[in-house]
Amino acid sequence: MLLTQCASCARPISHTAPRCARCHTRYCGPTCQKEHWEGGGHSVLCKKIKRRGGAEQYHADKKCEEAIAVAAEACAKDTAGQTCYICTQAVHWKTKEGLVRMCACRGTSGFAHVSCLAEQAKILNDEAEANRLGDKAQIESWMRWQGCSLCEQQYVGVVRCALGWACWKTYANRNGQTQRHWKAMAQLAIGLKQAGLYNEAAPIYESLLAFQLQHPNLEENVYTTQSWLANCYMHLGRLEESLELNQKARDGCAKLYGPSSERTLQMIESMSTILVQLDRHAEAKSLLQTAIPVAVRNCRPNSDTLLLLRHVLAVAISGLPMGKSSRGGPPAGSLERRCADVREAERIIGDVVNKSRQLLGGAHKFTKMFENTASNIRNFLGICEMLKAQGYR
Ligand SMILES: [Zn+2]
Ligand SMILES: [Zn+2]
Ligand SMILES: [Zn+2]
Ligand SMILES: [Zn+2]
Repeated sequence: MLLTQCASCARPISHTAPRCARCHTRYCGPTCQKEHWEGGGHSVLCKKIKRRGGAEQYHADKKCEEAIAVAAEACAKDTAGQTCYICTQAVHWKTKEGLVRMCACRGTSGFAHVSCLAEQAKILNDEAEANRLGDKAQIESWMRWQGCSLCEQQYVGVVRCALGWACWKTYANRNGQTQRHWKAMAQLAIGLKQAGLYNEAAPIYESLLAFQLQHPNLEENVYTTQSWLANCYMHLGRLEESLELNQKARDGCAKLYGPSSERTLQMIESMSTILVQLDRHAEAKSLLQTAIPVAVRNCRPNSDTLLLLRHVLAVAISGLPMGKSSRGGPPAGSLERRCADVREAERIIGDVVNKSRQLLGGAHKFTKMFENTASNIRNFLGICEMLKAQGYR
């Protein structure tokens, strides 16, 4: 299910593509399969792959090992001289992997082997399943694949990615049998996204979405997956596809939770971000001007949704591209009007920055993003006013 590329030519393939009868390695067609067998070394590897549980498992094991090595390497400086809080060793007895620093826990509890974390999560989940523990216990044990039970911090970046592969490798062969197979696929997709590997995350979200769309009881998950996939497309520069998916997610949420629910408003925020990136500022502006009064009435007072909506509104009004400080030339249209717009944008973003500092604190990533936008808009205002002073119109 996760083998999204032909093993021979690496072209994208569907999960129903033809496969090797023995080891289930997938190909786009008989030509590639023949080539791979004769010149690609598959005649040698085929038996070994079959022995290790088939192509899907083999692929997962290999990718997991690589991802753990990347995570341990990235944490090497922080973990020097430390030991794993689970197995108490510096080097894992079996895999020989190094440690990761995965959460905010102080002292020795903040260091572990990804393999030890994974083993612990697997045991807890098996127990919860075998003893038919209630929903709460099931959810809690599943959370161990994504965060620390002591400090409750979610794992991030390459550590999350390694644990995502470990999770997938644990449940890859439960195809269609249990929900865990699909939940594991979601963990992997989130991990890849966390590590910035959007091109690897996107096909996994696509598979996940295809599955969820076939199961009416998973409707809620569909919209979440759509918005995550839309986010991957955005990072990959596939903006039109991203917009289309964001629209679907927004419409779905509006139907399921109501048009003024916070979930729907969050989808509107992502949608207008894409519109700005597509240079469709006026559409973004009108969408946000309708959504913001709804958010003021319906969002919790300490919610960050309102801040995020107003942040995009400031960018849409300024006419700047998202996250950039200049269009690379004098602004189009009447300079007088443009100056007024950018001044309005500056007022809005200034207010967003102040509220964010109070609400989320100066170190929060949103506050930093808002400050960055504020400085871009201020610089742009400077350019516009300078041009006006020089007599441009
Ligand atoms: Zn091929
Ligand atoms: Zn084979
Ligand atoms: Zn360990
Ligand atoms: Zn912790």
